Amino acid sequence: MVAMRGVQKHFGSLHVLQDIELDVARGEVVVVIGPSGSGKSTLCRTINRLETIDAGEITVDGEPLPAEGKALAQLRADVGMVFQSFNLFAHKTVLENVTLGPIKVRGQSKSDAEARAMELLRRVGVDSQAQKLPAQLSGGQQQRVAIARSLAMEPKVMLFDEPTSALDPEMIKEVLDTMVDLAQGGMTMIVVTHEMGFARTAADRVVFMADGRIVEQNTPHEFFSAPRSDRAKDFLGKIL
Ligand code: ATP
Ligand code: MG
Repeated sequence: MVAMRGVQKHFGSLHVLQDIELDVARGEVVVVIGPSGSGKSTLCRTINRLETIDAGEITVDGEPLPAEGKALAQLRADVGMVFQSFNLFAHKTVLENVTLGPIKVRGQSKSDAEARAMELLRRVGVDSQAQKLPAQLSGGQQQRVAIARSLAMEPKVMLFDEPTSALDPEMIKEVLDTMVDLAQGGMTMIVVTHEMGFARTAADRVVFMADGRIVEQNTPHEFFSAPRSDRAKDFLGKIL
């Protein structure tokens, strides 16, 4: 579903992505971990072209990433992204936040979009908040709305970049539960997270990055019980 071949990315003299080779199959859940500054967010952002690459190739569902215009808007709908900060439209209701994209980008009628939005809000457990503004919701509720908003576009793959790291501890679980539910429902997911419990239970594969490289990748069981590289051993020693 997502393939990265020989991907290179620089920020000035900083070589932030070095020769990245990554394949994510349909329905696969890949958790990306690694030290701060290793390039995890940049890697995610290249997949929906929030960042361009200097060399190599990225395809989503077999298609090279479009550079601009309608095709780019289509790509951003196909590749949903949920960030640490929820990025909801502050002056629109929860329901409007979820229906805007489907109406504008997918061309759905307002009533169809609303019916589908309510279904999704129910799925993530915030349907009772539909008429409120984002600021009236807790952080965990806002993040679940952000997930519903992405899902409303019927994405082929979902990217999550530390979706729980801005949340209070009691709200982390409700968001992780939503993500586990998605994973079990067959969504293709790439998840940057420090939540090793999620990685252990929901990931098909763990990708470990350091200094802009994918240093190793393995099943969670193998990776956590027998990391191969010194970088991974050192990293796990600090966080587990
Ligand atoms: P963290 O765990 O702290 O979120 P990360 O693994 O997500 O880190 P990135 O955000 O991808 O790391 O950043 C990788 C490197 O690229 C860092 O050194 C960062 O400072 C740098 N970087 C990221 N974005 C830019 C930018 N727009 N311009 C210049 N340098 C950048
Ligand atoms: Mg990051």
